[in-house]
Amino acid sequence: MPRFSDRVVLITGAGSGLGRAAAVEMAGEGGAIAVVDIDRPSAEETVGLITREGGNAVAIEADVSSSTSVQAMVAAAVGHFGRIDVLVNNAGVVGELKPLHEVSEESWDFVQSVDMKGVFLCSKYVIPIMLEQGRGVIVNIASVSGFLASKTGVEYTAAKHGVTGLTKQTAYDYGHQGIRAVGIGPGVIETPLTAEWTCEGGPFHELTMEAPAGRYGRPEDVARLVAFLASDDADFMHGHTIPIDGGSIIR
Ligand code: NAP
Repeated sequence: MPRFSDRVVLITGAGSGLGRAAAVEMAGEGGAIAVVDIDRPSAEETVGLITREGGNAVAIEADVSSSTSVQAMVAAAVGHFGRIDVLVNNAGVVGELKPLHEVSEESWDFVQSVDMKGVFLCSKYVIPIMLEQGRGVIVNIASVSGFLASKTGVEYTAAKHGVTGLTKQTAYDYGHQGIRAVGIGPGVIETPLTAEWTCEGGPFHELTMEAPAGRYGRPEDVARLVAFLASDDADFMHGHTIPIDGGSIIR
C-alpha cells in the first residue's frame, strides 16, 4: 500500500523548489496534498502537476509569517480534506548575504519572520488538529546552515539554527502525544532560491564539487527524504535534523 494513501499532507512554499518536489513525491505515494504558497499561481501550477498524474491536491495561498494568514490556511486545509496528518514547514527565504554589521534590520526581521516565525506559526496552528487526531508528523526544512556558519549570511544561519532547536523542542513536547517532529538540513540544492549560487565560481562551488557526491543536490533528492521522514518507516526518528548535502559538511 502506498505510504501516504490515507494521509493529508500540508506543505508550505510548495509552489517551487523543494516544496514542489516533496508535494509531487508524496502525491505519487497516495497523499492528498495541501499545496501552500504565498504566490497562488505557482501553488496552482504544482497542483496541476499532481492532478495531471491522477493525484489529489488543492492550492492554498498563505503567508507563513502572518498569524491570520496561517490560521486561514489551516482552516482551508481542514475544510477541504478534513484533517492534517503531515505538516512540512518548508517555506523559506534568504537574506542579504553580508557580514553582520552590514545587514539591515529589515533583512534580519524578514528572514526571522519567514524562516523561523513561519515554522512556529504553522506548527502552533496545526498541532491542535494533530492532538485531536491523536497523531501527526511535522517535518521542518532547516539547512546545513542550521549546523554551522557559512556564506549564507547571519540572518539565515541564525534562523536555521533556530529551526533545529524548535524541532527538538517540538519533538520533546509532543512525542508522547503521538506527534513526531523531525528536521532536514539540505546542502546546496538546485532551485530558484539558489539559481545564482549553483554555477561555476558560485560561493559554494568548490565546497560542493570537492564533497563526496561532487554535485549540487536536486529537489528530488530532498523530496525522497521528506517522504521517508514523514512516513511510518521513520517511526523511531524524533527531534533530529538530518543533513542531506552530498557529504559537503563532513569536514
Ligand atoms: P524556493 O525555490 O524559493 O521555494 C520557496 C517557496 O516558498 C517559493 O515558492 C516562495 O514563494 C515561497 N515562500 C516564500 N516566502 C513565503 C511565505 N512567507 N509564505 C509562504 N510561502 C513563501 O526555495 P527552495 O530552495 O525550494 O527552499 C525551500 C526551503 O529549503 C527553504 O526553507 C530553504 O531555506 C531550504 N533550503 C534550501 C536549500 C537550497 O539549496 N535550495 C538548502 C538548504 C535549505 P516566492 O518565490 O513567491 O517568494
